[in-house]
Amino acid sequence: MSIKAEHINYLYGEGTAFEQYALRDVSFEIGDGQFIGLIGHTGSGKSTLIQHLNGLLRASSGKIYYNGEDIYQDGYDMRALRNQVGLVFQYPEHQLFEVDVFSDVCFGPKNQGLSKEEMEARAREALTQVGLSERYWDQSPFELSGGQKRRVAIAGVLAMQPEVLILDEPTAGLDPRGRDEILDQISALHNEKRMTIILVSHSMEDIARYADRIMVMSHGEKLFDAPPKEVFGHYKELEEIGLAAPQITYVARQLREKGVPLEEDITTVEEAKKAILGLLKKTGKAGSKE
Ligand code: ADP
Ligand code: MG
Repeated sequence: MSIKAEHINYLYGEGTAFEQYALRDVSFEIGDGQFIGLIGHTGSGKSTLIQHLNGLLRASSGKIYYNGEDIYQDGYDMRALRNQVGLVFQYPEHQLFEVDVFSDVCFGPKNQGLSKEEMEARAREALTQVGLSERYWDQSPFELSGGQKRRVAIAGVLAMQPEVLILDEPTAGLDPRGRDEILDQISALHNEKRMTIILVSHSMEDIARYADRIMVMSHGEKLFDAPPKEVFGHYKELEEIGLAAPQITYVARQLREKGVPLEEDITTVEEAKKAILGLLKKTGKAGSKE
């Protein structure tokens, strides 16, 4: 799997009085098995960008290649592209509509023209992947909690067995537990199935924990595109566009200013814990338990 975007520009309402740039000269390449975090303030172009990757929006100019093929060439199979690049919209539970959870998840595979057996096998696998216990499968999706509904919606996309899974703010509006459950399951898909993931998020904490690469959008432009530690090193620029590094990065920095010899680039709580315990052990102040 590979995605390549070259000089993408996108205008909403092109040719009307309301014409507005949403993407400006955005280029990148995504390789197999990457976990990409896409961040940026509201209106920076994240949702617009990801809808280009499965052909839902067509660039005003620029090119997109999927597995080396120009998706804008005549006769390109957009339907196949949509099956391979699975997109989970923001608040996807608004699109649940079947009478029961299992039928809802079957909807995508059914449209792919699969046999009943195959379709049901896909639905079972997808619901298991998102960790939704079997006792919910014959319930109405509307009886479930917010986090469960969202997992059903994600299962609906997984059941199509995409090569790439794109999730637009999948944790928005969930409580911390629902959020962690979803992120852990997404992370498992990446680790166990080597699925390529593009995670759109506002939360630096989430992104620092899971992504191996971060793309930062600002006013329709790609501002940074690098591993998390490198991106968070630009915390001053991030603050200027209303973002920030993870909170633990600031805590580590303050400790360093107070003379604690921590490394510069701590971005997760786990790393900070390890580093601090390491220091305590060195100075002989650590207890036997962590
Ligand atoms: P994000 O997902 O980062 O919040 P969007 O991609 O939704 O950003 O929006 C990028 C820009 O495009 C914003 O200025 C937004 O107002 C504008 N925009 C988004 N959707 C539409 C639309 N359907 N029609 C016109 N403008 C839009
Ligand atoms: Mg958005």
